[in-house]
Amino acid sequence: MKEMKYDVVVVGAGIAGPIVARNVAKSGFSVLLIDKKPAIGTPKQCAEGISIKVFDKYDIPYDRRFINREIYGAKLYSPSGYELELRYKEASGVILERKVFDKMLAYYAAKAGADVLARTEALDVIKKNGKVVGIKAKHEDEPVEIYADVVVAADGVESTIARKAGINTYAPPHEFDSSYEYEMLIEGFDPDMIHLWFGNEIAPRGYVWVFPKDEDRANVGIGINSDNPKTAKYYLDKWLRENNIPAKKLLEINVGVVPVGGFVKDLVKDNVLVVGDAARQVNPMHGGGMAEAMEAGTIASKWIVKALEEENLELLKNYTTEWWETDGKRLEKVLKVRRVTEKLTDEDLDLFIQILSGADAEKIAGGDYGEVIKALLKHPKVLLSPRRITLLKELL
Ligand SMILES: Cc1cc2nc3c(=O)[nH]c(=O)nc-3n(C[C@H](O)[C@H](O)[C@H](O)COP(=O)(O)OP(=O)(O)OC[C@H]3O[C@@H](n4cnc5c(N)ncnc54)[C@H](O)[C@@H]3O)c2cc1C
Repeated sequence: MKEMKYDVVVVGAGIAGPIVARNVAKSGFSVLLIDKKPAIGTPKQCAEGISIKVFDKYDIPYDRRFINREIYGAKLYSPSGYELELRYKEASGVILERKVFDKMLAYYAAKAGADVLARTEALDVIKKNGKVVGIKAKHEDEPVEIYADVVVAADGVESTIARKAGINTYAPPHEFDSSYEYEMLIEGFDPDMIHLWFGNEIAPRGYVWVFPKDEDRANVGIGINSDNPKTAKYYLDKWLRENNIPAKKLLEINVGVVPVGGFVKDLVKDNVLVVGDAARQVNPMHGGGMAEAMEAGTIASKWIVKALEEENLELLKNYTTEWWETDGKRLEKVLKVRRVTEKLTDEDLDLFIQILSGADAEKIAGGDYGEVIKALLKHPKVLLSPRRITLLKELL
């Protein structure tokens, strides 16, 4: 049996894992980043949209190799077809090529000093006297034992490593969205904007998205509640049919699950940390989790470095505390908003988008949500409905 020894082993080279591996390696500690995929990043399970701010914030090069196009805002469509356009003067986001992006993040980790092994699957944790001392893995079908002072579970939504280490990552099916997506040829949509369709018959609890790539290629997908009796594919195909969009030029079919119902409480157990989707650190409103994985990875790596420098693994617990005080607090608020918006009827959605497509669009584009809710509350059709007033007040 082959054995290896590192200061830190990171399981999963999606978004969170390489950020942790890069940051820890930069501080001079030995790190191994592993992923079960033979080609890191492939296949993708993502619509590939991300805020433009993340590049500066997380020190990631703005590299055209993984940026398909810049996005200048969003178009929202109500169930009856009212439209709300939120267009910015500057690019607000980008559509990535995640197959390249994930691989480049792992490359940055390698450049910073981490070892990286593709086609290496973590199977279990190794325990001695009840404490995790490493992981059992399979590298190109050969068994390997990787010993490490710190183990990081960045193994995505289906994470097993954190659970095997004794971290409670359980959530019921209702707390997940099922997603189905075609990367396909599609025409007729402004490729500078992302497009989102809402409605209880269109996408229960979620939305249909068109995230443009090039001029006539896009990720066209849907997310719905996982415990829905019908599948996400059923709703996506129905939407395509109803919009006369032929599903005949499908370049990829991506299926995935998104945790949208709350976050893992204890992110650390002794010397094991859980980050990203594995810790359900996803924006519960829109299901995006790349920026959240970067933020969690940044906080986690900061405490790993401190713990190793001071030879005090107790310091790792500060990752849980800091995450909950910062991003956790923010995402809890977003979760509250999601739970309120779940109660909106199609008539509410039609009305709100209709009202907002007027004067207040500029305020939303500026991110002034409080003002937007106040504006909605002034509308006569809202004032006449105690239910709508209650829902909107919950959002304030
Ligand atoms: C259809 C869909 C669309 C999405 N669209 C967007 C979007 O537009 N924008 C956005 O921000 N987010 C989006 N998301 C969410 C986003 O993809 C995730 O939040 C993000 O990838 C989380 O990063 P992560 O590093 O935590 O996990 P992942 O990116 O899932 O990475 C986990 C890695 O761990 C590896 N792994 C798993 N188990 C093991 C093991 N036992 N051993 C070794 N390796 C292992 C996997 O191969 C994988 O590479 C979408 C998700 C889906 C499903």
